[in-house]
Amino acid sequence: MSKWPFAGHRHQSEPQPAPQPIVTQPEPALEIVENELILPSSVEEPLGISKPRSESNLPLIELRDVTRSFPGDPEVQALKGVSLKVDKGEYVSIVGHSGSGKSTMLNILGLLDRPTVGEYRIDGHLTGSLSEAERAAVRALRIGFVFQAFHLMPRRSVLNNVLMPMAYAGVPRAERQERAVEALERVGLSHRMNFLPGTLSGGERQRVAIARAVATRPSLLLADEPTGNLDQATANSVMDLFDELNDDGLTLMVITHDNEVANRARRTLRINDGRLTEATALDLDLSAFEAEFSPELEVAE
Ligand code: ADP
Ligand code: MG
Repeated sequence: MSKWPFAGHRHQSEPQPAPQPIVTQPEPALEIVENELILPSSVEEPLGISKPRSESNLPLIELRDVTRSFPGDPEVQALKGVSLKVDKGEYVSIVGHSGSGKSTMLNILGLLDRPTVGEYRIDGHLTGSLSEAERAAVRALRIGFVFQAFHLMPRRSVLNNVLMPMAYAGVPRAERQERAVEALERVGLSHRMNFLPGTLSGGERQRVAIARAVATRPSLLLADEPTGNLDQATANSVMDLFDELNDDGLTLMVITHDNEVANRARRTLRINDGRLTEATALDLDLSAFEAEFSPELEVAE
C-alpha cells in the first residue's frame, strides 16, 4: 500500500500523545504551482493528489477505526470506531438522525477535521501526518463541498463565486473563466452569471454551489444536507444533477437525514450514535416503519 512519502505509519491523533519518531530525512515541502502540486525531487512515487482523477485501483476513501472525541464533561464521541472503504466512482449516502455524527464524518472526510484515533487514507495515501498547508492543497485540488446553507459570497456575482476556488486549486488564470461558464452551463445557470446570489431562489443557489464545487474538477464531492433548505421539487432537481455528475465518474458522498435523498445513492450507510453500518434497501424501508411501530418491532425481535 502506498502512502504519503513524507508520512510515517502512525495513528492520527490530536494532540499527538506519543513522542514523534526520529525523522531521518527532512520532510520535503510541497509547493502549489499553477494546476499541480510540484513534488520535491526526493519523492520517487507519484502522488495521487497531483492529478484530479487517479487511475489507481485503490479505494478513493479508506477510514480505519476512526474515532472523533470532543473533550468536555462528559466527553462526546461523535464517531466511534468507523471503518469504511469507498471506491472511485461510487455514489454513497450517509443517513442518520440529528446529532448522530454525520457532519463530524463529513468534516473528517473533507480534511476539515482530524480523527482523534484511527487512519484516513485518500487514494491509498495516509492523511494523518499532512501539515495544514498540505491538507488545504488536497482539499482544493481533490474535494468539492456542498453545504445545506449554500455558503455563497453574497457580494460577489454568481460567476465570481464559481471562479474563486479555482484560484486556490491553482487553475491557470486563462482557463478559469471558461471552466466557470462550463460549470454554470452544466447546472443550467449560465443566464444568471452576473446576478448576485441573493437574487436567486434556494434551488438556484444550491446549483451555483454545485457548479463552484465541480469547476475545480475534484475527485470527490461531499455534500452535507444539500437539500435541507429546498422544497421537494427543487430537491429532486438537485438530486438529478448529482446522478448526472456520478454518471460522469465523480465520486459522491451525500449526507442527509432524509431517507428519500439517501435512497437516490447506489449505496447507503447508516450512522447511529457515531457508529456506521451498511444499510440495505430493506433497512431503509424498515427504518420508516420502525419510526411508527418501534414498540412492536422491539417485541418481534
Ligand atoms: P449531525 O451532523 O448528525 O447532526 P454532528 O456530527 O454535528 O451530528 O454531531 C455529533 C455529536 O457530536 C453531537 O452530539 C454534537 O453535539 C457533538 N459535536 C459536534 N461537534 C462538536 C464540537 N465541536 N464540540 C463538541 N461536541 C460536538
Ligand atoms: Mg449535521
